[in-house]
Amino acid sequence: MGKRYIDCSLNIVDADSWVQFPRKLVLGAPEPRIRVEQVHTTVNGRRMYPCCRLELTTQCFTHIDAPVHFYVESGRKIDEVPLDQFINDGVVIDMMHKQPGEGVTGEDLEKSGADVHRGDTIIIRTGWTDRAFGTREFWENMVHLENSAGDWILSKQPKALMQDFMTDIAPVKKCEHCGQLIPVAEFSPNHYKFLGNDMILIEWCTNLGAITKPRVQVIALPLKIKGGEGGPARVVVVEEDQ
Ligand SMILES: [Zn+2]
Repeated sequence: MGKRYIDCSLNIVDADSWVQFPRKLVLGAPEPRIRVEQVHTTVNGRRMYPCCRLELTTQCFTHIDAPVHFYVESGRKIDEVPLDQFINDGVVIDMMHKQPGEGVTGEDLEKSGADVHRGDTIIIRTGWTDRAFGTREFWENMVHLENSAGDWILSKQPKALMQDFMTDIAPVKKCEHCGQLIPVAEFSPNHYKFLGNDMILIEWCTNLGAITKPRVQVIALPLKIKGGEGGPARVVVVEEDQ
């Protein structure tokens, strides 16, 4: 019996915007730069031994949130999260039919009939990252997670939630009068629920449509940043091939 490895991580590339939470748009705060710069050592006039200098945040591209991201005083930090939350059994819940701007509800998840075991990594796939990541559209019309879905997920007592969209209510909405994007009043209620229950969030995965089995293994390892609230991660799903 063989195994099939599915890479579910976005490529980290040099980018000006829309590859991390839009702090400027939602909070009016400056958005940190993201840079991937090639660095070479010059030997006898030749450029040799390339490496890259990275200027990233812990919340860009495919990444993982630890509880301290929302629970600054008491939450577990990314270097303190037990490894069995990063490497775990996963259950896939398919929501590929969701259209831009739609939310996943608790009723949707219940109707999926997914066989979720206590302690699983719940994988919700919508295809939204593949369709719109890196663009304004991703935020403007995002497929998102309603409050009722957050409650349903919590009732299953998972160790982790993995996704390819916004694991929360949309942080911005279009103003009915001026058409501009404006912040919503309630800020990320589902993040508070999940991270307050010691779950981790494996965010902005890609290629989830390539998964063919309902139950898989998830390997999602973030950078081990001392005291960090999260970290960029390489996320891989392993399927038994039979
Ligand atoms: Zn995050």
